Amino acid sequence: MFYDDDADLHALDGKTVAIIGYGSQGHAHSLNLKDSGVDVVVGLRPGSDSVAKAEANGLRVLDPAAAADAGDVVMVLVPDELHGKVWDEIKGGLEPGNLLLTGHGFSILYGLIEPPQDIDVALIAPKGPGHMVRRQFLEGSGVPGLIAIHQDATGSAQRIGLAYAKGIGCTRGGVFETTFKEETETDLFGEQAVLCGGASELVQAGFETLVEAGYNPQMAYFECLHELKLIVDLMYEKGLAGMRYSISNTAEYGDYTRGKRVITDQTRAAMKQILAEIQSGAFAREWIAENNAGQESFRRMRAEQAGTQVESVGKDLRSQMSWIDTAFHE
Ligand code: NAD
Ligand code: MG
Ligand code: MG
Repeated sequence: MFYDDDADLHALDGKTVAIIGYGSQGHAHSLNLKDSGVDVVVGLRPGSDSVAKAEANGLRVLDPAAAADAGDVVMVLVPDELHGKVWDEIKGGLEPGNLLLTGHGFSILYGLIEPPQDIDVALIAPKGPGHMVRRQFLEGSGVPGLIAIHQDATGSAQRIGLAYAKGIGCTRGGVFETTFKEETETDLFGEQAVLCGGASELVQAGFETLVEAGYNPQMAYFECLHELKLIVDLMYEKGLAGMRYSISNTAEYGDYTRGKRVITDQTRAAMKQILAEIQSGAFAREWIAENNAGQESFRRMRAEQAGTQVESVGKDLRSQMSWIDTAFHE
């Protein structure tokens, strides 16, 4: 693990960092680096809504090609599926010895970006959403992160990469060294099987089971969605045994005896299959094809899922929960 003392912000002295994109990660990286004293330029398409936001935050904005030209370090923080298109616009701006960074290994691992041999290529991935990267930086802590080096033409890819990680606050929480392959495959697996796909379907199925059995949907929402955060917070702070220490003995007994009936051997086999599709590149090919086809089924699924009962019930209930801070999620 690399911490603050292992990284030197001076590695970025005299260098300009270009951040392409100003979404979840882009705004957090840009603002944290600026607050760390780094010269930052943001690359956005003219006419993008984000231009006004970035300028209001005191950042210099250029179009992506000009930003990459100005940047000695160029971080691509647009959605993964657009990396190929954006790379075509910015590749002319990466001179020999420049450092190309991404926040996720997908586009390099699956060939959407094919960098020339004479530049450095690395990955700096905070292990948290952008609003947390910004919030924790302002609070004096930092989201832990990953670093991986794909190409080291200059011999300083790691030194400059770690300086970048320090500038966004990641070395406060610790930066772990990995490879593009490991970061991408574990990230995709985690989000598909556990964090996003697995957890969303678990919530949905639990909610529907209670509602179909005639229970009040608001009760079902609290039990199957709202309380999940309270349990996950305990896991995050103390691990599984620590969480189980805090729940009742009744809940703990139900956990040991019923959990394996929900996550069955069949579920584990499905997880193995999901991992195999990631490792073979089948998932990446499917997602790239979906994008080439205009994201038609992606948009349909998004609309379908947003229209479910757990969503409408939750929207009403959350509007009464003044403590839920939505400001950082925009
Ligand atoms: P996002 O969807 O929040 O933001 C993307 C931004 O890209 C938009 O706001 C827009 O400003 C910009 N953009 C879109 N098309 C563009 C174009 N053609 N040219 C220039 N700019 C354009 O994306 P995100 O979630 O911040 O993800 C960015 C990268 O960070 C991805 O590689 C992702 O895998 C990675 N990442 C995200 C998270 C996360 O929690 N969101 C965590 C770690 C890594
Ligand atoms: Mg350049
Ligand atoms: Mg991911």
